[in-house]
Amino acid sequence: MNFEHYIAAVENFPEEGVTFRDITPLMADGPAFRAAISEISEFARQKEVDIIVGPEARGFIVGCPVAFDLEVGFVPARKKGKLPRETATIDYGLEYGKSTLQIHKDAIKPGQRVLIVDDLLATGGTIKATIDLVESFGAEVVGAAFLIELEEFAAREKISEYEVFTLLKY
Ligand code: 5GP
Repeated sequence: MNFEHYIAAVENFPEEGVTFRDITPLMADGPAFRAAISEISEFARQKEVDIIVGPEARGFIVGCPVAFDLEVGFVPARKKGKLPRETATIDYGLEYGKSTLQIHKDAIKPGQRVLIVDDLLATGGTIKATIDLVESFGAEVVGAAFLIELEEFAAREKISEYEVFTLLKY
Protein backbone atom coordinates (compact mmCIF):
# COMPACT_ATOMS: atom_id res chain seq x y z
CA MET A 1 0.00 0.00 0.00
CA ASN A 2 1.19 3.54 -0.79
CA PHE A 3 0.99 5.03 2.71
CA GLU A 4 2.53 8.31 1.55
CA HIS A 5 -0.73 9.06 -0.24
CA TYR A 6 -2.44 9.35 3.18
CA ILE A 7 0.04 11.74 4.82
CA ALA A 8 -0.68 15.44 4.29
CA ALA A 9 2.29 17.83 4.09
CA VAL A 10 1.39 21.12 5.78
CA GLU A 11 3.82 23.95 5.07
CA ASN A 12 4.76 26.46 7.79
CA PHE A 13 3.05 24.57 10.64
CA PRO A 14 3.33 24.92 13.59
CA GLU A 15 5.77 27.66 12.61
CA GLU A 16 7.39 29.31 9.58
CA GLY A 17 9.75 27.03 7.67
CA VAL A 18 8.50 23.73 9.14
CA THR A 19 6.74 21.09 7.01
CA PHE A 20 4.35 19.24 9.32
CA ARG A 21 3.45 15.64 8.39
CA ASP A 22 -0.23 15.23 9.23
CA ILE A 23 -1.28 11.62 9.88
CA THR A 24 -5.03 12.31 10.30
CA PRO A 25 -5.93 11.37 6.68
CA LEU A 26 -4.32 7.96 7.32
CA MET A 27 -6.28 7.55 10.57
CA ALA A 28 -9.49 8.52 8.76
CA ASP A 29 -9.15 5.74 6.17
CA GLY A 30 -10.09 2.37 7.71
CA PRO A 31 -8.21 -0.01 5.39
CA ALA A 32 -5.11 2.21 5.18
CA PHE A 33 -4.94 2.75 8.95
CA ARG A 34 -5.40 -0.94 9.58
CA ALA A 35 -2.70 -1.86 7.05
CA ALA A 36 -0.27 0.61 8.63
CA ILE A 37 -0.93 -0.70 12.14
CA SER A 38 -0.58 -4.30 10.90
CA GLU A 39 2.94 -3.60 9.64
CA ILE A 40 3.99 -2.32 13.05
CA SER A 41 2.24 -5.27 14.72
CA GLU A 42 4.20 -7.65 12.51
CA PHE A 43 7.47 -6.08 13.70
CA ALA A 44 6.28 -6.17 17.32
CA ARG A 45 5.30 -9.83 17.07
CA GLN A 46 8.81 -10.79 15.94
CA LYS A 47 10.19 -8.96 18.96
CA GLU A 48 7.95 -10.90 21.38
CA VAL A 49 6.96 -7.79 23.30
CA ASP A 50 5.19 -7.82 26.65
CA ILE A 51 4.07 -4.19 26.62
CA ILE A 52 3.69 -1.26 24.25
CA VAL A 53 4.61 2.19 25.57
CA GLY A 54 3.40 5.26 23.65
CA PRO A 55 4.27 8.90 24.39
CA GLU A 56 1.46 11.46 24.55
CA ALA A 57 -0.44 12.10 22.39
CA ARG A 58 -0.06 10.56 18.97
CA GLY A 59 1.83 7.63 20.47
CA PHE A 60 -1.54 6.63 21.96
CA ILE A 61 -3.23 6.70 18.55
CA VAL A 62 -0.62 4.43 16.94
CA GLY A 63 0.42 2.38 19.97
CA CYS A 64 -3.00 1.36 21.29
CA PRO A 65 -4.19 -0.53 18.20
CA VAL A 66 -0.82 -2.34 18.04
CA ALA A 67 -1.25 -3.45 21.67
CA PHE A 68 -4.83 -4.52 20.95
CA ASP A 69 -3.67 -6.50 17.92
CA LEU A 70 -1.01 -8.35 19.95
CA GLU A 71 -3.18 -8.75 23.03
CA VAL A 72 -0.52 -7.09 25.17
CA GLY A 73 -0.87 -4.13 27.50
CA PHE A 74 -0.53 -0.49 26.56
CA VAL A 75 1.21 1.96 28.91
CA PRO A 76 0.91 5.71 28.29
CA ALA A 77 3.90 8.01 28.83
CA ARG A 78 2.08 11.22 29.70
CA LYS A 79 2.91 14.88 30.00
CA LYS A 80 3.51 16.18 33.52
CA GLY A 81 0.61 16.15 35.96
CA LYS A 82 -1.84 14.01 33.96
CA LEU A 83 -1.41 10.64 35.68
CA PRO A 84 -3.32 10.30 38.98
CA ARG A 85 -1.06 7.90 40.88
CA GLU A 86 2.63 7.70 41.77
CA THR A 87 4.86 8.16 38.72
CA ALA A 88 8.41 7.83 37.43
CA THR A 89 9.44 11.07 35.72
CA ILE A 90 11.93 12.23 33.11
CA ASP A 91 12.72 15.81 32.08
CA TYR A 92 14.22 16.32 28.64
CA GLY A 93 15.23 19.09 26.27
CA LEU A 94 13.28 19.94 23.13
CA GLU A 95 14.49 22.03 20.18
CA TYR A 96 12.98 25.03 21.97
CA GLY A 97 12.39 24.66 25.73
CA LYS A 98 11.91 21.46 27.67
CA SER A 99 9.31 18.87 28.52
CA THR A 100 8.50 16.08 30.97
CA LEU A 101 7.14 12.55 30.56
CA GLN A 102 5.70 10.36 33.31
CA ILE A 103 4.72 6.69 33.62
CA HIS A 104 2.83 5.13 36.52
CA LYS A 105 5.31 3.44 38.88
CA ASP A 106 3.48 0.10 38.83
CA ALA A 107 2.92 0.01 35.05
CA ILE A 108 6.15 -1.72 33.98
CA LYS A 109 7.98 -4.60 35.68
CA PRO A 110 11.74 -5.28 35.60
CA GLY A 111 12.68 -7.56 32.70
CA GLN A 112 9.57 -6.90 30.62
CA ARG A 113 10.15 -6.54 26.88
CA VAL A 114 8.93 -3.13 25.80
CA LEU A 115 8.31 -1.72 22.33
CA ILE A 116 7.94 2.06 22.14
CA VAL A 117 5.54 3.31 19.47
CA ASP A 118 4.97 6.87 18.26
CA ASP A 119 3.69 8.49 15.08
CA LEU A 120 6.86 10.24 13.97
CA LEU A 121 10.62 10.27 14.57
CA ALA A 122 12.20 13.72 14.11
CA THR A 123 15.18 14.78 16.28
CA GLY A 124 14.76 11.69 18.47
CA GLY A 125 14.41 13.72 21.68
CA THR A 126 11.02 12.23 22.57
CA ILE A 127 12.03 8.63 21.89
CA LYS A 128 15.33 8.99 23.77
CA ALA A 129 13.51 10.33 26.84
CA THR A 130 10.93 7.55 26.62
CA ILE A 131 13.66 4.89 26.33
CA ASP A 132 15.49 6.28 29.37
CA LEU A 133 12.27 6.40 31.37
CA VAL A 134 11.32 2.80 30.46
CA GLU A 135 14.84 1.56 31.29
CA SER A 136 14.63 3.23 34.72
CA PHE A 137 12.07 0.49 35.53
CA GLY A 138 14.66 -2.21 34.75
CA ALA A 139 12.71 -3.17 31.63
CA GLU A 140 14.24 -4.05 28.27
CA VAL A 141 13.52 -1.77 25.30
CA VAL A 142 13.42 -4.20 22.35
CA GLY A 143 12.84 -1.51 19.73
CA ALA A 144 10.97 1.55 18.60
CA ALA A 145 8.39 1.80 15.83
CA PHE A 146 6.98 4.82 13.98
CA LEU A 147 4.75 5.56 11.03
CA ILE A 148 7.14 8.25 9.80
CA GLU A 149 10.85 9.05 10.02
CA LEU A 150 12.27 12.46 9.08
CA GLU A 151 15.74 11.41 7.98
CA GLU A 152 17.18 14.95 7.91
CA PHE A 153 17.51 14.88 11.72
CA ALA A 154 19.52 11.63 11.76
CA ALA A 155 17.79 10.54 14.98
CA ARG A 156 18.89 6.93 14.48
CA GLU A 157 22.43 7.98 15.40
CA LYS A 158 21.14 8.98 18.84
CA ILE A 159 19.56 5.59 19.45
CA SER A 160 21.86 3.41 17.35
CA GLU A 161 21.84 0.54 19.86
CA TYR A 162 18.08 0.04 19.36
CA GLU A 163 16.23 -1.48 16.44
CA VAL A 164 14.06 1.16 14.77
CA PHE A 165 11.15 0.32 12.46
CA THR A 166 9.53 3.01 10.31
CA LEU A 167 6.89 2.70 7.62
CA LEU A 168 7.69 5.88 5.71
CA LYS A 169 10.82 8.00 5.35
CA TYR A 170 11.07 11.61 4.26
P1 5GP B 1 11.30 14.46 18.14
O1 5GP B 1 11.24 14.40 19.62
O2 5GP B 1 11.80 13.19 17.50
O3 5GP B 1 12.05 15.66 17.64
O4 5GP B 1 9.83 14.72 17.60
C1 5GP B 1 8.90 13.70 17.54
C2 5GP B 1 7.67 14.05 18.33
O5 5GP B 1 7.11 15.28 17.89
C3 5GP B 1 6.62 12.98 18.15
O6 5GP B 1 6.00 12.72 19.38
C4 5GP B 1 5.65 13.60 17.15
O7 5GP B 1 4.31 13.32 17.50
C5 5GP B 1 5.92 15.08 17.17
N1 5GP B 1 6.15 15.64 15.82
C6 5GP B 1 7.18 16.42 15.43
N2 5GP B 1 7.07 16.78 14.15
C7 5GP B 1 5.93 16.22 13.68
C8 5GP B 1 5.27 16.21 12.38
O8 5GP B 1 5.71 16.78 11.38
N3 5GP B 1 4.13 15.49 12.31
C9 5GP B 1 3.62 14.81 13.36
N4 5GP B 1 2.48 14.13 13.17
N5 5GP B 1 4.21 14.81 14.59
C10 5GP B 1 5.35 15.50 14.75
